[in-house]
Amino acid sequence: MSQSFSPPDTPKFRQLWQNQEGLCAICSKMMPMSRADVAHSTLWKKWRPTFDHIIPRAHEGSDDITNLRLAHAICNKRRGTGKG
Ligand SMILES: [Zn+2]
Repeated sequence: MSQSFSPPDTPKFRQLWQNQEGLCAICSKMMPMSRADVAHSTLWKKWRPTFDHIIPRAHEGSDDITNLRLAHAICNKRRGTGKG
């Protein structure tokens, strides 16, 4: 078991992080940059920054940076499964 507790360290990630100043695109709250920023791994799983497709892939959205933004895993999930 070698689970990574770091967000994806890619140019896309860093660019988006900078653009958004570390804030979630959905709830506008600060995202933890690494596992060390949160008290528990369960919290990290909920709050870690993830890529959110502005236009979903199912609707022919691309993986281009212009179609991506960073959001908490939990916000991304909520949005993905609809309201409620
Ligand atoms: Zn959020």
